[in-house]
Amino acid sequence: MKDISCKLLIIGAGPGGYVCAIRAGQLGVDTVLVDIGKAGGTCLTVGCIPSKALIHAAEEFDRIRHLAAKNPFGITTAAPQIDLGKTVDWKDGIVARLNNGVIALVKKANVKMVRGQARFVDGKTVAIATDTGSQVVHAEKIVIATGSAPVELPFLPFGGNVISSTGALSLREVPERLVIVGGGYIGLELGTAFAKLGSQVTVVEATSRILPQYDAELTTPVLAQLKKLGVAVMTGTRALGMNGSGSALRVESDRGLTELPADRVLVTVGRRPVTETAGLEELVLAMDGPFIRVNERCETAMRGIYAIGDVTGEPMLAHRAMAQGEMVAELVAGHKRTWDKQAIPAICFTDPEIVSVGLLPEAAKASGQGEIKVGTFPFAANGRSMTKLAENGFVRVVARADNHVVLGIQAVGQGISELSAAFGLAVEMGARLEDIALTIHAHPTQGEGLQEAALKALGQAIHI
Ligand code: FAD
Ligand code: NAD
Repeated sequence: MKDISCKLLIIGAGPGGYVCAIRAGQLGVDTVLVDIGKAGGTCLTVGCIPSKALIHAAEEFDRIRHLAAKNPFGITTAAPQIDLGKTVDWKDGIVARLNNGVIALVKKANVKMVRGQARFVDGKTVAIATDTGSQVVHAEKIVIATGSAPVELPFLPFGGNVISSTGALSLREVPERLVIVGGGYIGLELGTAFAKLGSQVTVVEATSRILPQYDAELTTPVLAQLKKLGVAVMTGTRALGMNGSGSALRVESDRGLTELPADRVLVTVGRRPVTETAGLEELVLAMDGPFIRVNERCETAMRGIYAIGDVTGEPMLAHRAMAQGEMVAELVAGHKRTWDKQAIPAICFTDPEIVSVGLLPEAAKASGQGEIKVGTFPFAANGRSMTKLAENGFVRVVARADNHVVLGIQAVGQGISELSAAFGLAVEMGARLEDIALTIHAHPTQGEGLQEAALKALGQAIHI
């Protein structure tokens, strides 16, 4: 196969890599994008999109189940049934449409896409093992965007009934008893979905709290809803492995050893960077633990080699990878860019959902920016939330006491993930409490909670 020479080679077509490729193509940079799997990477194929599809289907099922029981709307209907195989086929259809969409966008940007496993030969050369042989690519600049994979516990290897998130998103039958190891993002998002679909779910979390990255005020409504759904949450509990017959998970806590009978065990104890597929040993990269160390321009320790996305560490979120990809494309095109983002929004798609942008109150207090003001507005006092039976939760604004600059905004509530756009904009634009408080928010919306939280921090709340 004839060698290819290009200005930019990107290894990995996940949200980091494909966004980098499209932007580079738009800017006229001669770009090659390579992936061993499908365009869209983890996020599109086995992550963000398929998990949100399953979560939505579970919400629909749960909603109809509630309507089939006694409800305040005067609606009567039969109890719903679900054929999870058909749900998974529908989810796969969405993934396929988006895979094709990414391929079309990459093509439109005049980027050449190669399918195969890329391995560094040296800092300017990569060999791609394709179905039809080895394709050598010489590139002036190379971006490593190889993403992440589920952490596998040595005493609980994936296989059989022990599954990762990828396996959970392809189940064609709802497991009767689902035990989940890890009460973080994936465990709780998927655990909530399967509980709504009818599984008896148990979550085993090693630390003393679920979602330990958020404060207890934010996670309490989630915990309450898990309880309502019949999910057993065992904090301070460690998984030890399957029992001899493989029918139960052995766990240990202060209360001693016990066995949890399980039809499936879903292990969601975090994700690790994929650094073993691309022959990185041929390079001299500086590392931050298992992650590739990068500076504020996503440059690695080797000139001309960048790294973006999950392979560079936390937060492992698709939109961070995309923003890094866009920045690196512009740098390669000769623009002056640096990572100057004020905040990266994070959403946990549990029920209720959690949104967090910027600093939590404790982090704000510890940030050395002086005294802090916090304003909280409960959805129980919001008309729109009442009409949606979504009163569980609140919006919270964290600001400097001296100049009222907003440092963080969080919320927990049903269906409030879309508020993340307003929260992110406020923090990124350096809004003060007055900017939010004096903006007319449409009525009746849950977004009014943001305005009221800002008013509350100013001591001027109207509706509480
Ligand atoms: P990835 O998406 O992992 O893509 C890396 C790509 O590199 C892969 O396609 C892989 O095939 C390819 N590759 C690796 N090695 C090679 C090689 N040597 N040669 C060629 N190709 C290679 N994030 C959110 O922001 N919101 C969510 O709601 C969300 N939900 C999630 C739900 C689940 C179940 C999971 C697992 C993750 C979720 N995430 C979510 C995280 C999100 O998927 C990742 O942050 C995101 O995919 C990272 O993008 P990336 O480009 O760094 O890497
Ligand atoms: P996580 O880091 O969110 O949660 C892992 C949990 O497992 C932690 O609470 C940890 O204390 C616990 N744990 C670790 N070892 C354990 C053990 N031996 N026994 C019991 N508990 C143990 O990781 P995740 O849920 O696997 O998700 C990985 C990453 O994927 C997230 O950090 C996030 O970046 C990304 N993600 C994001 C979204 C989203 O944005 N909505 C959704 C899913 C995944």
